[in-house]
Formats: sequence, structure tokens, C-alpha cells
Amino acid sequence: MVIYTDPDPVCPKCGLHITAKYDKGNRIINKNYPVKVTIYRCKCGGLYRTPLTKFMDKHCNYTHDIKKMGITVTIL
Ligand SMILES: [Zn+2]
Repeated sequence: MVIYTDPDPVCPKCGLHITAKYDKGNRIINKNYPVKVTIYRCKCGGLYRTPLTKFMDKHCNYTHDIKKMGITVTIL
């Protein structure tokens, strides 16, 4: 299984660089492709989840490619 990590996680609460890994979270991409994202924990208690925003929108479980395919299908 693919595990996504962030090379430079920054705490959303205090803005400091985080070095400690905390956990791994499950994400399912395109409904049938499970991956894991690394979760980091700051000293202040803030949690940072590796975002998949490079190829997916926030709060969306479909990659940009798949969404584009959907648009194409409605045009056909
Ligand atoms: Zn922090």
C-alpha cells in the first residue's frame, strides 16, 4: 500500500515545523484505491495530516484525472 508523507510538515496551530510522526490515516482514493497518509503531531498538540491536494481537491475523494473523465463522459 502506498503511504504518503510530507517532507516539510508545518503545524496548523502554531506554524512550527514538525519532526515527529504520530500515526497513519486511511484514505480511499477514487472509491477503490486505499492509501495511507502520515499524520504528524506537533509539541503544541496540533495535528497535521499529509494532504493529497497535489492531485485531489480538499474534502474530495476523487483525483483530478477521474473528475476530468467524468466531464468528458457527459460531453460525449
Ligand atoms: Zn504546533
